[in-house]
Amino acid sequence: MPRPHVYNTQAIVLRSSPLGEADRLLTIFTSDLGKLRVSARGVRRPTSKLGGHLDPLTCSAITVARGKTLDTITSADTLKSFLPLKSDLERLAHGLYLAELVDALNPLEAPNSSAYSLLLEGLEGLGGTSNPDLLLRHLELRLLAHTGFLPELHSCVECHAALTPGNHLFSPQAGGVLCPTCRPLHADAVHLSVEALKVVRYLSSATGESAIRLRVPKPLAREVAGLTSAFLRHVLEREVRSLAFLRLVGHGAPDEAVSSASS
Ligand SMILES: [Zn+2]
Repeated sequence: MPRPHVYNTQAIVLRSSPLGEADRLLTIFTSDLGKLRVSARGVRRPTSKLGGHLDPLTCSAITVARGKTLDTITSADTLKSFLPLKSDLERLAHGLYLAELVDALNPLEAPNSSAYSLLLEGLEGLGGTSNPDLLLRHLELRLLAHTGFLPELHSCVECHAALTPGNHLFSPQAGGVLCPTCRPLHADAVHLSVEALKVVRYLSSATGESAIRLRVPKPLAREVAGLTSAFLRHVLEREVRSLAFLRLVGHGAPDEAVSSASS
């Protein structure tokens, strides 16, 4: 449905870059219209009324005017600024990582209210939790589910055979778990422990609150992180850019697991 000439919505700013002398080009994720690319005119002037309401990882109520090539934000009012997230470098890196995933997995102008709610809850949760790793894994898996990319985790993705405990593999290329018979079909298949499969299944259907309460040993957390990051890299056909920042500022990034899962 074409958007009206002027419309109101709620949006979270995913990305922002300078445009012209005083404007910004924003990638925003809205509650009802999905991902949009819009401009914010004059926002870089100190006197701009929009200033502060359109920073990355800020949720605002916005009014937008349709434009020939680019819609323009004409007013913005902060609803949530996620200050706990922004006041800590490591938490900020987690938030930017989530924003990048939402950006990369959603096409423009495709409404996805589930992904919007997940982003909102994710930014809230990442600002307050002392267990960000499993919350991030949960957010990755739920986001994959909301965008139609969740890997098959319950039976062999090739032959649909039931999985025997302890004897299965995971292949990003195949899009899920494989039985030993189907292994030769996919060179990227790696062994997946039954514990890791259980954790991934749990995180892919649990709520964020349950994900935060889960406690798993570090090697298992690394195996799970290796699986999701290898799968995301396959789906996106590239490395997630903000992972480098995540590694720089602290833990949460599956660096060791990535290399072991892809070797
Ligand atoms: Zn099979």
